Amino acid sequence: MSKKSWERGLRLLPSVDETLRDDRVAELLAVYPRSMVVEAVRVSLAGERRRILEGEPVEEDMDENSCLDLIVLKTAEVVRNQACSNLRPVINATGVVLHTNLGRALLSENARRAVCEIASSYSNLELELTTGRRGSRYAPLEPVLTSLTGAEAALVVNNNAAAVLLALGTLAKEREVVVSRGQLVEIGGSFRVPEVMAQSGARLVEVGATNKTYPDDYRKAINEHTALLLHVHTSNYRIIGFTRETTIKELVEIGRAFSLPVMSDLGSGSLLDLSRYGLPGEPTVQEMVAAGTDIITFSGDKLLGGPQAGIIVGRRRYIDKMKKNPLLRAVRVDKMTVAALEATLREYLDEERVVEGLPVLQMLTASASRLEEKAENLARLVRDAVGNKAGVEVGKGFSVVGGGSLPAAELPTAVVKIDSRTTSAGDLQSALMRGEPAVMSRVQGGSLLLDVRTVRGSELPALAAAIGKVI
Ligand SMILES: *Cc1c(COP(=O)(O)O)cnc(C)c1O
Repeated sequence: MSKKSWERGLRLLPSVDETLRDDRVAELLAVYPRSMVVEAVRVSLAGERRRILEGEPVEEDMDENSCLDLIVLKTAEVVRNQACSNLRPVINATGVVLHTNLGRALLSENARRAVCEIASSYSNLELELTTGRRGSRYAPLEPVLTSLTGAEAALVVNNNAAAVLLALGTLAKEREVVVSRGQLVEIGGSFRVPEVMAQSGARLVEVGATNKTYPDDYRKAINEHTALLLHVHTSNYRIIGFTRETTIKELVEIGRAFSLPVMSDLGSGSLLDLSRYGLPGEPTVQEMVAAGTDIITFSGDKLLGGPQAGIIVGRRRYIDKMKKNPLLRAVRVDKMTVAALEATLREYLDEERVVEGLPVLQMLTASASRLEEKAENLARLVRDAVGNKAGVEVGKGFSVVGGGSLPAAELPTAVVKIDSRTTSAGDLQSALMRGEPAVMSRVQGGSLLLDVRTVRGSELPALAAAIGKVI
């Protein structure tokens, strides 16, 4: 490149002061802190200077005005990116209801209100208001949990992985835990039953085969070092075909015969029989308690539909021991979790209204006609936004539950299918992800698919506008 070209390019660049005097930058200054805008101008100018010095050609028709325009546009982009939180809302058009990467369960309106209130006000988190004595942060949750599940006692920690760690670390440290080879679950890469057990100090004794484990396999493995029999719910896979799982009832019988506690890591603890809504039945927490399981652990933000939390219910004598374990302090829940979880659990006290109240249950049980209507509404808005630049039609598809829950469930859903005349579905998908608001979508058979099951009605206009922007 000629020396002239870059000399000319550098000469065209405005100064910081000139840029700050521009009317469009003045608009930014009215909204954003001055230091942020000044810094953005500097960053934009430095970026442009670097591009020129690295030999990027300066367009022939570039003049001082168009160069200023360019810097102003860049400045606005930098400011907006900086002002935007790194953690921000995403529109989930994937149809995956419990999407771990997108934050799993959405809170109910009551839970949202409870979090806001408790987060911005002092509370009786660890104070007994009747006596003035020091209280326990678990106290608001225990009575609701025991009354809903039928268990004697309950405790809540940071997440289910922590619940398993605390339970095993308390009841089986340096002793043996018997578990079926068919239940050595890995959940999302970071939670593997064998590894969590190693962390807890318990020794794993694997019994049976991947597809078959008989009651006798457990009996034969029991010796004087055995502390506990563990059942792990195969939340995110199913073993089908030639199989035999020792049932929880059988495990409880063995536990009683050998005076050993039986624990179940239930994963996504459902408090509602979902088969009533045409979904595959998952064992409910109540069923596990009724079967005599001594300790049950499950997540707060899977099928329960609440905040991230690990819930432990079971016999008082075991839960009391966990309450005295110093590890509890390291995995304790904060006040916002307590608030959100109490409000979520209270929704279950009204069986008639719980499905409407909890977004997760609402999405999972949405009727075909409701989904179709939402898809038709979205399609109409998208057609208005894209004109004739893309084909837009409503079709049928399947949603999955996600988050290691109901792996065998394929829920019939309604989708909006978009075929751009110029851009591939993959490119549209990544542009939508990078947009503001960010949108997560699916690609299938060369088309972009928006599954409306996980899109809230109030998000439809913003979703259509986002699509209009990228097409
Ligand atoms: C999801 C799951 C876990 C992990 O729970 P988190 O709340 O994500 O920590 C552990 N065990 C089982 C069986 C699960 O399904």
